[in-house]
Amino acid sequence: MFEYTAPNNLLQDKIILVTGAGSGIGRTAALNFARHGATVILLGRTTSKLEEVYDEIEENGWPQAAIYPMNLAGASEQDYANLAETLDKEFGRLDGLLHNAGLLGELKAIAQYDLDKWNEVMLVNVTAPFLLSREVLPLLRKAKSGSIAFTSSSVGHQGRAHWGAYSISKFATEGLMQVMADEEDGLSQVRVNTINPGGTRTAMRASAYPGEDPMSRPTPEDIMPLYLYLMGDDSQSVSGKAFHAQLPGNPENIATL
Ligand code: NDP
Repeated sequence: MFEYTAPNNLLQDKIILVTGAGSGIGRTAALNFARHGATVILLGRTTSKLEEVYDEIEENGWPQAAIYPMNLAGASEQDYANLAETLDKEFGRLDGLLHNAGLLGELKAIAQYDLDKWNEVMLVNVTAPFLLSREVLPLLRKAKSGSIAFTSSSVGHQGRAHWGAYSISKFATEGLMQVMADEEDGLSQVRVNTINPGGTRTAMRASAYPGEDPMSRPTPEDIMPLYLYLMGDDSQSVSGKAFHAQLPGNPENIATL
């Protein structure tokens, strides 16, 4: 695991947007960000799940969250512009953006892969993060040290048979991160990195590996040190890197990761 112990107030006064915040890794990340002092904007497609996360934050007395229901598969360019405008009005800046929402699609050989499924996976995993990043970039640039973290995968580093559009979308995610990190370098304080969570105990993992004992995988909570590190100021000067939450690493050896 990436080793990092976050101080309790690591994210105090930070405004962080999390996509896919209603379940799985995104839910745990949103709760952890709030626990460490952030005001979290919970974006997702199922309002009831977002409300549960909102309530849990409220019950714990952490900074009040905000809910932003949005289906990334159906959103228009204008929807993203409206989101950015709302954030600008409410907060005037954005300190962190965790692109976590993702779609597995179907596990099939390219020879059999369905075009509609391909388009849907690309839309949610690549086009949505592109549009969201583009629209909120001015707000991230207004922050003292804005951080964008994209969510990648092992199959975004090494292609694997039958992982189809999902694998290819994660390669594209790595590309988007590298292009944006290079563009922001020297231009703004915004840093851009990817996180490969590694096999983690969630609904997506269970559907990809139905025969696997879920208890054999780490929980979303186990992989949080890297998520906290990348959203907090300890990673301020780190950009353009592909991180692996479950591989050994720590803030001191970043250069060699
Ligand atoms: P889950 O399937 O458990 O959660 C995915 C989240 O994305 C859900 O909150 C879901 O919302 C949301 N989402 C999906 N489609 C849309 C959409 N069209 N609009 C808005 N939100 C949407 O997955 P994980 O938590 O496991 O995965 C989180 C990220 O980590 C993904 O990017 C995934 O690719 C990546 N990852 C996960 C690994 C693992 O082993 N778990 C390994 C490697 C990478 P809802 O709950 O409403 O469906």
